[in-house]
Amino acid sequence: MNIILFGPPGVGKGTQAKLLVEEFRCSHISTGDLLREAVKNQTPLGVKAKSFMDGGNLVPDEIVIGLIEEVLKPEDIRRNFILDGFPRTLPQAKALDALFERLGISLNGVISVQVDNEEIIRRLDQRRLCRNCGAIYTVAQLAGSRQCPKCGGELYQRDDDKPDTVRRRLEVYQQQTSPLIDYYRQTKRLTKVDGMHQVAYVHKLILDALYRDRTSI
Ligand code: AMP
Repeated sequence: MNIILFGPPGVGKGTQAKLLVEEFRCSHISTGDLLREAVKNQTPLGVKAKSFMDGGNLVPDEIVIGLIEEVLKPEDIRRNFILDGFPRTLPQAKALDALFERLGISLNGVISVQVDNEEIIRRLDQRRLCRNCGAIYTVAQLAGSRQCPKCGGELYQRDDDKPDTVRRRLEVYQQQTSPLIDYYRQTKRLTKVDGMHQVAYVHKLILDALYRDRTSI
């Protein structure tokens, strides 16, 4: 199962990716997570990426394309994966198609999750993550606790989830990423899913879309 999960920040791609990983036992490749890890460890990649990420801007194409080429090298990974947050520009999408062709990877589908902008700003303002296990919560689910209910790790809010930076990220999505909808629609690989519903129902919609479109799964 090879899937691209696509959509603006805050539509629930990370949450849905985790559910799909349980369903299909596939690798979850999130460029955002990989870049945050690189920033935390102050690797040369992280040092280059940090200022772009802090401002809510995209990290340059050549950096993220190089990163994805590295990640997809191992054969077991490239047979079964979800891409979350990549591609985000037309050059990235074209580079990915070329890479897929070179490595003999076929794509099962591109799922575009859609949520209103006001709801995105509200959701990201309420989102908290666990530093230890990466679990994602809403403030309401935590009832004031600062520790992860699953592993006891420290919870935090991403700096780029604050409303001003989210507005910038949404502008960037509109300008640079939304043209990919047409790119994937033209090649008949795109399925739109309404992300305004509860998590479990959105998961069901994604599975329905994957099974409906790809009888080979
Ligand atoms: P995310 O966790 O997917 O929201 O990504 C967080 C930040 O990482 C983004 O706002 C970008 O600065 C950077 N980033 C993640 N994926 C990409 C990508 N495919 N291209 C460029 N920048 C990216």
